[in-house]
Amino acid sequence: MADDKGISRRSFAVGAAGLAALPAAATAKPPKPAPIPIGKPFILTTWNFGPSANAVGWPMLAGGASSIDTVEAAINHVEEFGDYWVGADGVPNEVGETTLDAMILWGPTHDIGAVGCLKRVRRAISVARKVMEETQHTLIVGDDATRFAARMGFTETSLTGPKSQAAFAKWAATHSKSDAFGPEPRGQSDTLRAHDTVGCIALDAAGNLCVGCSTNGREFKIPGRVGDSPIPGAGAYGDQAVGGAVATGNGDVMMRFLPTYHAVELMRGGMHPQAAAEAALRRIADAGYSIGGGIAVIRRDGVHGAAKTGWDEVPFDYSVQTASGNVTVPVA
Ligand code: ASP
Repeated sequence: MADDKGISRRSFAVGAAGLAALPAAATAKPPKPAPIPIGKPFILTTWNFGPSANAVGWPMLAGGASSIDTVEAAINHVEEFGDYWVGADGVPNEVGETTLDAMILWGPTHDIGAVGCLKRVRRAISVARKVMEETQHTLIVGDDATRFAARMGFTETSLTGPKSQAAFAKWAATHSKSDAFGPEPRGQSDTLRAHDTVGCIALDAAGNLCVGCSTNGREFKIPGRVGDSPIPGAGAYGDQAVGGAVATGNGDVMMRFLPTYHAVELMRGGMHPQAAAEAALRRIADAGYSIGGGIAVIRRDGVHGAAKTGWDEVPFDYSVQTASGNVTVPVA
């Protein structure tokens, strides 16, 4: 039988005889990398949210709390007290409304919960956790995410505030339409497009990994837009046997390459976290995109690394706190 390209499906069938005919090097299994040991508790948080988020999360971890409670509390702190880029009173969309994307991943079960374009509810990461713990779903979006949150006991409230109103008024004075219309400007730097995400990865004393992220996404986005943050493998990813990765930047493009999944899989194969972060971003650049973006990764033994692209002038950093204290690492 031929498909619409006229290729016979049978020509793809490789039977035992066909495999036997292949050179040994083509069928040999690659050597299995040594298992990655579980390290001591840590919390990693991206951007300048790091020190204060870690200051919330570390005492919890040190006191024996689970990494999921820690990640939720650290991200809640940023959602409530961060700045314009995460949570309420931040980045408005094309019609002046602030909407939120968030995701949480629990290492021991590989369960994931996420919300996209969540409206009128402040703590998006907590709603994402409810999706994970109270449903069989992974991602709930839009007004239905708001209704779901209300069913879970969250209070509905406006996410508009003085900062989002002022930003919208300034933008609307000269714009009537989101700059996200039109083709992706490949080859041109997009550093003027503003956005940030808080990403957080923690390992607790029981050796359990949790990864989370939360954002209000790209400034003046088209209503209904969902970015990379609630997409597993895009905005964040983790694997209990390996470690985690969190991304930030132009999520519309980054989600096409699943950079956090890519980085975790490279680490699984034995690559150092720093090289894995660089390779995941290089894949995007190699495809011809000149986006602004960053990725931070940490192996479950506590070794970490990060990379950024297109942000020569943007000081992207991340902070890691362990029993030895907090270290903030500027990403070169
Ligand atoms: N990646 C986020 C988004 O595109 C924003 C950011 O991290 O800068 O929604």
